[in-house]
Amino acid sequence: MLLMKTREVAQHHRYNYIMTTADAVRKRHKGSSNGARAGVKDQEKEPVQWGRAWEVDWFSLTAVILLLCFAPFIVFFFIMACDQYQCSISHPLLDLYNGEATLLTIWNRAPSFTWAAAKIYAIWVTFQVVLYMCVPDIMHKILPGYVGGVQDGARTPAGLINKYEVNGLQCWIITHALWVANAQYFHWFSPTIIIDNWIPLLWCTNILGYAVSTFAFIKAYLFPTNPEDCKFTGNIFYNYMMGIEFNPRIGKWFDFKLFFNGRPGIVAWTLINLSYAAKQQELYGYVTNSMILVNVLQAIYVLDFFWNEAWYLRTIDICHDHFGWYLGWGDCVWLPFLYTLQGLYLVYNPVQLSTPHAAGVLILGLVGYYIFRSTNHQKDLFRRTEGNCNIWGKKPTFIECSYRSADGGIHKSKLMTSGFWGVARHMNYTGDLMGSLAYCLACGGEHLLPYFYIVYMTILLVHRCIRDEHRCRNKYGKDWERYTAAVSYRLLPNIF
Ligand code: NDP
Repeated sequence: MLLMKTREVAQHHRYNYIMTTADAVRKRHKGSSNGARAGVKDQEKEPVQWGRAWEVDWFSLTAVILLLCFAPFIVFFFIMACDQYQCSISHPLLDLYNGEATLLTIWNRAPSFTWAAAKIYAIWVTFQVVLYMCVPDIMHKILPGYVGGVQDGARTPAGLINKYEVNGLQCWIITHALWVANAQYFHWFSPTIIIDNWIPLLWCTNILGYAVSTFAFIKAYLFPTNPEDCKFTGNIFYNYMMGIEFNPRIGKWFDFKLFFNGRPGIVAWTLINLSYAAKQQELYGYVTNSMILVNVLQAIYVLDFFWNEAWYLRTIDICHDHFGWYLGWGDCVWLPFLYTLQGLYLVYNPVQLSTPHAAGVLILGLVGYYIFRSTNHQKDLFRRTEGNCNIWGKKPTFIECSYRSADGGIHKSKLMTSGFWGVARHMNYTGDLMGSLAYCLACGGEHLLPYFYIVYMTILLVHRCIRDEHRCRNKYGKDWERYTAAVSYRLLPNIF
């Protein structure tokens, strides 16, 4: 029944899309007499789609099913390896190979779900919902240069512009002020509360991750927020994983993507790290310089995220990805557990770095952050001022482009070819990868587990680069080819 309904709705939406596209082509033919530029003419000949794919190839489907089946076990494996094997990833595998452990004995040794963890997690999520929904932003009134409050998102593939209440920085500050106040004065709970309940919390985050993804999936069929931006592929697994609705909301303001992308996962990131540092103090009587480095470098990254939350409305997560298991479960489970692996590792293996090693990690992390932030800032400044700004002391160079939204509107855009955007097409990813490598190097070289993060980030960002370029090629056509001819490399000049 559900599959039939899927197909029916998919066909209906597909039909609407084709009709809109045909109408758009007709409208553009009428208006083409005043000598449009090359990019517009290209698009007039060929109807384009630049949102997510409608068709699912076998490779994508296989990847989706494998991820749905194995991603939760990958998270469990890493956390369990720390809990039972001091963060060694080879020991559990060798134990299994030698018959000294079975999957069942490993599973049975792991702490299970507890109501205490469920209570902690319920309070946490409820608190973040309350901060998100009920405390309008005042930070933009008191912090010079900070952009918050009600902001416009980017134009969706259907041509809509959504409004968002941006108050992430405020939520982060309130949450952390309470955390510090608790640790210093109130003592309502132990600062190690997170690590002390870590595996029971894993089950709770999984419950929320699956619940929210399933709810978003059903909602897309029954009461979608913006039906014109829904995408049905006709494949139930792909729809569940990659999402159908573009911007699911409850009411006018509870935006699933903005909430789950930033909170509860990213607000928690710095608290989780603080909890690891507190655990080191409790276990060994001191906090290692490696733990301080991981806390500081990751806190810079998290604060950057919230300081620039309005800017994040224009990133791929918000203006390209649909909301499904990939974002819902990923934000609830994958992010808080795997992005914080370095701190967890250092709880079980307290590494004290030599001064040159620590300085090297700090410099790599800060240089990576500088490249990441400057690249993102240059694009933002360039786009906000429509190119009327200075980049590296000069007027930026750029390629003029045009694209069409599914409602038939033709829009103009510019792709910058100077500054970091003239060095390679994604220097922001390069900087991000340098920062990620710094977190891993802070853990020394004894174990592989903390290096999972750089391997994962490399796969994520290279895949994202390819995905983004596919989207931009569809969006801008020949104009994108002119841009890639002008800036030939993706991440590293002369290499990739
Ligand atoms: P970008 O911020 O690089 O945005 C890509 C978009 O920018 C393109 O789709 C295009 O959009 C526009 N664009 C591309 N080239 C140019 C150019 N030359 N001039 C002007 N605009 C251009 O990518 P993301 O949204 O993926 O990433 C945002 C940040 O978030 C990155 O710094 C990334 O490292 C970070 N990130 C971190 C993750 C993590 O898990 N830690 C995960 C994902 C991202 P348009 O359609 O507007 O032209």
